This record gives sequence, C-alpha cells and structure tokens, in this order.
Amino acid sequence: MLNFELYNPTNLVFGKGQIEKLGELVPKGAKILLAYGGGSIFKNGIHEQVINNLKGHEIVEFAGIEANPHFETLMKAVAIVKEQKIDFILAVGGGSVIDGVKFISGAVNYKGDPIEILQKRILIKENAVPFGTVLTLPATGSEMNSGAVVTIESTKEKLAFGGSALFPKFSICDPTVIQSLPKRQLQNGVVDAYTHVMEQYLTYPHEGYLQDRIAEGILQTLIEVGPKVVENPEDYALASNFMWSCTMALNGLIQKGVPSDWATHMIGHELTAMYGIDHARTLAVIAPSLYKVMFETKKGKLAQYGKRIFNLTGTEDEIANEAINKTVEFFHTMGMETKLSDYTKDYDKTADFIVNRFDERGWKGLGEKQNITLDKVKSIVEMSY
Ligand code: NAP
Ligand code: FE
Repeated sequence: MLNFELYNPTNLVFGKGQIEKLGELVPKGAKILLAYGGGSIFKNGIHEQVINNLKGHEIVEFAGIEANPHFETLMKAVAIVKEQKIDFILAVGGGSVIDGVKFISGAVNYKGDPIEILQKRILIKENAVPFGTVLTLPATGSEMNSGAVVTIESTKEKLAFGGSALFPKFSICDPTVIQSLPKRQLQNGVVDAYTHVMEQYLTYPHEGYLQDRIAEGILQTLIEVGPKVVENPEDYALASNFMWSCTMALNGLIQKGVPSDWATHMIGHELTAMYGIDHARTLAVIAPSLYKVMFETKKGKLAQYGKRIFNLTGTEDEIANEAINKTVEFFHTMGMETKLSDYTKDYDKTADFIVNRFDERGWKGLGEKQNITLDKVKSIVEMSY
C-alpha cells in the first residue's frame, strides 16, 4: 500500500430534517453569502428552509451559478464577497454550486489573477473564505472533498483545482431533497458516483485490499439502489443509501494508499466544455472505451471487478471483457447513452481537438501510470464516436 495522510475536516450532517441545524453550524454573527443555482431551491422549498434557519444573520444572495459553473459568473461573486465584507459562504445546490463556491472561497484572497487557480492548477492551502453547504443533488462528493471543476467560458476550458483549504466546514445532506430532482439528474448522480469509484478502484498496482472492498461495496450499493431510486425518489431507504454512496465515493477514503486514474474525468470534461453534455453522461461515453484501449494495464483489476461485482467466470481476459460489457449495460439501465454520436453529429474532429488541448497544457500522459499517452487519448475518443 502507498503511504498516505487522511485529513477530512468536513462536518457531515446527514439525515431527514437536518437543515434545521443550519443556525448552529454557521459561525455566530457571520455575514453570509447565500449562493445557489438557477432557482430549483425556490420550487422545492429549500430556499425557504434555509432562510428560516438563518434568522439573525445578515444575508446577501448570489443566484445564477450555472451547471458546470463559469469562472466569469463566479468572479462576480468574488467581487461581492470583497465589497460586502462577507464572513461565510453557504452553497445551496449540487456539485456545480458547491464547486463554484470553492472557487469563490479560494479566489477572494488569492494574490494574483484568480484565473491562474484554474490555468496553473494552484493548490489552495490557506486564506480561503470559510464555507458550508446544503447539498441538493447527490453525485459529485463535492460536499465532503476539497476538489472542484470550473469552466472558463471565454475559452471553453473545463479545469479541475483544489487544495486542503477547500473542504466545506460542514455539509448538510438531507436525502429527502432528491424528491424534486428530475430523473435525468438522478441518473447522472448514480453514474457520476459509480465512475468516481472506478477511477480509484480500477488502477494498478493497487494493494489496498480494504479500499477495494469498500469500493466494491459502494459499486454494489449503487447497482442495487440506482435503478430503483430513479423510479422512487420518495423512498427514504433508497434516497439515503444513494446519497451516502455518492459522498463515500469521493470523500477521499477509498483513494488513500492507492493510485488513482481520473483520465475518464479529464477527457469527459472536454466533452462537456465542447458540447455541453452532462458531466456524468460524458463519463458513460468515455469509460468503456478507456477500459478497452487500456485493457492490458487494467485487465487484472477488471477481472477482479467482474468476479466480485457481476459473479462472472472464465479466463482473466474473458471476465475482464465481459465486465466492460456489464458496465455498459448498467449505464444503459441508468438511462445513459454511451456513444458520442448519440449527443452530437459533429463528433469527427473531437479526438484531434482534445489531443491538441492536452498537448498545449503539457498533459502528455494521464492515468495512474501516466501511460494514457496522447495517441491513447486519441484512440479512446475515436472509439467512443
Ligand atoms: P449540478 O450541475 O449541480 O446541477 C444540475 C441541475 O440539477 C441544475 O440544473 C440544478 O438546478 C438541478 N438541481 C439541483 N438540485 C436539485 C433539486 N433538489 N431539485 C431539482 N433540481 C435540482 O449537478 P451535479 O451533477 O451535482 O454537478 C455537476 C458538476 O460537478 C460538474 O461541473 C462536474 O464536473 C462537477 N464535479 C465535481 C466533482 C468534485 O469532486 N468537486 C466531482 C465530479 C463532478 P438549479 O441550478 O436550478 O439549482
Ligand atoms: Fe465526476
């Protein structure tokens, strides 16, 4: 196993009715920036619940953080935090709002042009404005990790960043919030979380036996509850297990002591930036091709996955191949299309465009062994057409 440090200071407050604890969780007397997205929190009553539990605080609202949040939008909030002397930020939303708030938090006191946080992947280790979250969409794990992804709209670049100062102080995860989610977003949540596990599990060399078992438990739980929760989000047992699985998939735990890949995400981000495809759906397009192109590196782990998750039998190669097919089947069950041509007719230059971008950024090799070289990226994207 690799050496590791486990640091996760987020106070996760989980369960029905927990938004009532908001008043105890935000710092006393803090002036709060209440940040949210396009307005779903007005329709489902979460805005009202939040406001009712922040009595006595001065609140400035910042609405309109879009899905796949834009740097340009977030910089408006950065200005407000500075001008209005905000002490604490509250993100109320899904991964986009939480990631957006992480950027705002890190950018306010950043000495330099905040675009560098994205372009130079600056680690934010100090001087971040403290923030908490009320999660409204289980998917990303952003509520309990210190990473985020922001799009520079002017250049259509979707870039990841993070740092130890960007853990939420607290996150309120009330599984009943999923009742108002459209089917499409529930499906996205399951597939994003599933792929997060795969990015940390399907790597080599990997000697985290316990991490494997935890990862497999999350995958099995998502397979068990995923299709059902989409049909029945009012069922609290399904909703709570779905929400907790998404958090556990990317709160750092299964990543400790093992290498992780993240190439599916890196390539998927480009598809969102280019075509506006939902994050999870880009992963369902890329992951199967990546497993095929990287078959020799990943087949041992694919075979373990096939045996333990799908009870497959046969030779290592047979099980590994069938495990990829089973993964695609699961994505289809979750309402995903798994080909780029299902989303856009203009796909034929995509691979060259992405390879050029990665080349310009100096990303010559992705994945846990950095052996997903640019020619492999090209094959993966072309195979996904
Ligand atoms: P999202 O982009 O935050 O939200 C998608 C949509 O769902 C929005 O239109 C939002 O509407 C709506 N919505 C949210 N909660 C709702 C509710 N309870 N009821 C009804 N509608 C609701 O989706 P996401 O999948 O959580 O986040 C995706 C982003 O996270 C991507 O940018 C992705 O790259 C990033 N990501 C981050 C991490 C990480 O670790 N930080 C990991 C993976 C992905 P409103 O805007 O109106 O609220
Ligand atoms: Fe993701």
